[in-house]
Amino acid sequence: MTDEDLLNSTQTAEVLGIGRTYVYELVRRGDLTPKRTHPNRFTREDVELLGDGWRRKRGPTHGLASTYRGYGCRCDECTRANTERTRLERADRFSRQPPKGSHGKATTYSNWGCRCGRCRKANTAYNAPYARAYQTRQKAMMS
Ligand SMILES: [Zn+2]
Ligand SMILES: [Zn+2]
Repeated sequence: MTDEDLLNSTQTAEVLGIGRTYVYELVRRGDLTPKRTHPNRFTREDVELLGDGWRRKRGPTHGLASTYRGYGCRCDECTRANTERTRLERADRFSRQPPKGSHGKATTYSNWGCRCGRCRKANTAYNAPYARAYQTRQKAMMS
């Protein structure tokens, strides 16, 4: 085992998402045991095992886009967070130029908001079947 597999109390606190003083509390309670050869150092394995146990008990943290995407949670809070994140990501893309070579695609038109001739054309072509289906439906309703 190399030194890299050992975490100091600051790193341990980071991995577990807790304050550093709480690490000492965990040691005092016997939840976490420092490595015998290195006082105040913990093996990454121990720390991650402890963290996993907590997460299982607690379940995922709701209200996060990462929980929506990573855990596939579809609760109201996570869905809202994901919608908001998607909106921000989209706004961010819209404020930048689409990557080179991405023009002439319907996705560049809709995801990047590109309105160049090539993207416009691609978007029209992409939507054509839907537009046709819509028109057919409209005509069927009229007759
Ligand atoms: Zn959720
Ligand atoms: Zn374009």
